[in-house]
Amino acid sequence: MVWNKPLPSMDPDIEPFWKALKRHEFNLYHCKKCGAWYFPVACCRNHDNEPLFGNMEWAKASGKGKVFAFNIHHRAFHPGFEKDVPYVYAMIKLEEGPMIGSNVVGCDPYQVKIDMPVEIVFQDITEQFTLPQFRPVAQ
Ligand SMILES: [Zn+2]
Repeated sequence: MVWNKPLPSMDPDIEPFWKALKRHEFNLYHCKKCGAWYFPVACCRNHDNEPLFGNMEWAKASGKGKVFAFNIHHRAFHPGFEKDVPYVYAMIKLEEGPMIGSNVVGCDPYQVKIDMPVEIVFQDITEQFTLPQFRPVAQ
């Protein structure tokens, strides 16, 4: 498969997130002091932080959440998406608390509903990148 869509931008702050996805592991930023979860990278807002993000780490998250908001794209805004329309772009409210923007796949776009439970699926797209996508949880 040739990937003809834009790729995520990479910088040192987010690199561990993408490296974990490559291993089919979904990581979020986690506070070792109080257990709070963040995405993207942030200092913990619950207390003072150690210098250089000392109390923070990337840790394995459930990959489960619910659709918080979504829209159905009927037009491709980039030629790479022409075969995908209509497709769903959604904000997923993760079980751990943070939100992530992604696609809902594996179902008819018109079946997607607010609060629908979803779980991660890993889409390998290039040597460097695996995308986190979400599909409905079988009920
Ligand atoms: Zn904390």
